[in-house]
Formats: sequence, C-alpha cells, structure tokens
Amino acid sequence: MSTVLSPALARELHQLGEFDAEACLNCGVCSATCPLGIDLLPRRLFRYVVFGLAQRVREESEAIFSCLLCRACEQSCPAGVHITENVRLLRRWLLEEGL
Ligand code: SF4
Ligand code: SF4
Repeated sequence: MSTVLSPALARELHQLGEFDAEACLNCGVCSATCPLGIDLLPRRLFRYVVFGLAQRVREESEAIFSCLLCRACEQSCPAGVHITENVRLLRRWLLEEGL
C-alpha cells in the first residue's frame, strides 16, 4: 500500500488552535506515564502529523478518542508540549473530516 503524504495536515491543525506537536522530542516519557499505556499517544501520533501522514492519524482515531485527557503525560513532558490540547485538536480535526 502506498503512503500518501498530506503537507496540509499540520497547517490544518494549527488553524484549529495552538497545536505544538513539533516541539515533541520523541523521548517516550509520555508513554511511560500514561495510565492507559497508550503507546501511540502522543509521540508517534505527533510524528505522523509532522510527516503529513494523515491516513495514519485516521487509523488511530480509537486511541485518540480513548485518551482520558488526564494530563499525566503533559506534567512529565520535558519539552512542555501541550499534549491534551493537541489531542483535543486532533479530535476536532477527525470529526471535521468525518473520521
Ligand atoms: S514526553 Fe513530551 S517530548 Fe517526550 S515524547 Fe511525549 S510529548 Fe514528546
Ligand atoms: S492525557 Fe492521560 S490518557 Fe491521555 S495520553 Fe496523556 S496520560 Fe494517557
């Protein structure tokens, strides 16, 4: 299956709000602290956005909507990424896309 890149993805998310996934260092601290053990959120998911992998984001909609928005990850993030706000914006983007 070929991979279709969507350069507009990050721009669309920035238009929805203060999306700051580009600041992610991909360190994995968030995955280690998540009570749900959501490995995809946020680090891999944010990479998908940075690289314009819109279909990968759509495929992770279940994980995106299962996030508790508890901020456990955000409080430990060394880069100060606004993780829960990014998740909210991803939800909005998915809903506007019709999932
Ligand atoms: S803790 Fe922060 S910097 Fe590290 S992977 Fe998660 S979002 Fe990125
Ligand atoms: S907000 Fe909570 S549930 Fe969601 S990814 Fe972060 S730690 Fe996990």
